[in-house]
Amino acid sequence: MNAPEIDFRYSRVYLGQLLGANPNDELDELDGKLSDYAKRCVAFWEPYRTSVPRKIAEISGINWREQEITCYIVGRHNSFSDPLSMKAYKDGNEFVDTLIHELIHRLFLQEPEKGREVFAWIKEKYGAESRLTRNHIPVHAIYANLYMDVFGKERLEQRKKAESEGSENKDYARSWEIVDKEGYNSIVSRIKALAQGSL
Ligand SMILES: [Zn+2]
Repeated sequence: MNAPEIDFRYSRVYLGQLLGANPNDELDELDGKLSDYAKRCVAFWEPYRTSVPRKIAEISGINWREQEITCYIVGRHNSFSDPLSMKAYKDGNEFVDTLIHELIHRLFLQEPEKGREVFAWIKEKYGAESRLTRNHIPVHAIYANLYMDVFGKERLEQRKKAESEGSENKDYARSWEIVDKEGYNSIVSRIKALAQGSL
């Protein structure tokens, strides 16, 4: 199983586009801070650099096609998976937890056919749920399996709680509820079977 290297980078041009109109004053202030933060990300990620991407591939049955992924550090902007863009969290664990979430989204994006099959099955089974909830069922199931194996139950529970609090998170909370009720193992084995074409 291969594991993509992540190249953490601050790009003034890219962040300027995300921030919209007249971002120059804000960018002047952020330039130094976010370049430094990109260097700290290398240290946050170092302990998991190879083991976590490999484990995600092993759990899902989907191999990484990408050898290298550029990860842009985007300050206060929300994190998202494509192009991989990460908020500058103060806390290293929060950074790692969010990066792993975005990497699981990305695993499906870089194998679109396998991704389509998995999400078609989810839509068939959970058609009544919102798209955001449905998109997170496979992500959370893989995430739960990984955390139980690598980081332990306590950290998984903390993350679930953080992602489920507040009305803005109700779709995420619902997805965690479904994964808990169904059991991450049964969702993950279905994903793996679909990804490996054995269904
Ligand atoms: Zn997500």
